[in-house]
Amino acid sequence: MIRLVLFDIDGTLLRTGGAGVWAFAETFSSEFGIVDGVARLQFAGRTDSGLVREVFEAQGVPATTANFQRFYDRYTVLLEERLRHHAGELVPGVEEFLRQLETLPQPPLIGLLTGNIRRGAEIKLRRHNLWERFAIGGFGDDHEDRNQIAAVARRRGCQRLGVELAGGQILVVGDTPNDIRCARAIHARVLAVAADTEKLEELRAHQPDWLVEDFTQLSAAEICRG
Ligand SMILES: [Mg+2]
Repeated sequence: MIRLVLFDIDGTLLRTGGAGVWAFAETFSSEFGIVDGVARLQFAGRTDSGLVREVFEAQGVPATTANFQRFYDRYTVLLEERLRHHAGELVPGVEEFLRQLETLPQPPLIGLLTGNIRRGAEIKLRRHNLWERFAIGGFGDDHEDRNQIAAVARRRGCQRLGVELAGGQILVVGDTPNDIRCARAIHARVLAVAADTEKLEELRAHQPDWLVEDFTQLSAAEICRG
């Protein structure tokens, strides 16, 4: 039985319509004078800290704690501003799926496993009144490596529950091959959510335990008893 469910955010719970990428680009440009800093970056499945480091290194900006802080301070302000006007959208069925999880006879602990820094995650989820639904999380400022973020999220989940969970009691929900890899790193089961046919085939190759196009295609009860 699943006792802990860990959700990725971007592409899994919601789509910001490019607000995150825009805030990244705008922060590099306004704070660090880096134009086109994100042009060649692959965002999906990455971590904020890994992305920032990649651009800093490519552009010769010292990857100091102070520079990361400066980046995040500006980024979160811009992200919040942008989302105020462009909310983006929830992936279909998300709210109902969360409600189903919460109302199971033995509801699992619900958390986050995301490359977003904690403040960024909070801003994106608050925009849709979802932040309070997640009890714990592993975030992009916990580690640059998603597999390590998974380990952090798992540890926090176990601490909150007061038990040492087996991998089979943990479900990771994500939309990229990196989500599936980090789930396997903690021996968790995987629900993959694919936005389109191309992604569906890409994710299928990584053999998730469940694969859907959105949350209307399954019920929390059938997954959590598995
Ligand atoms: Mg994602």
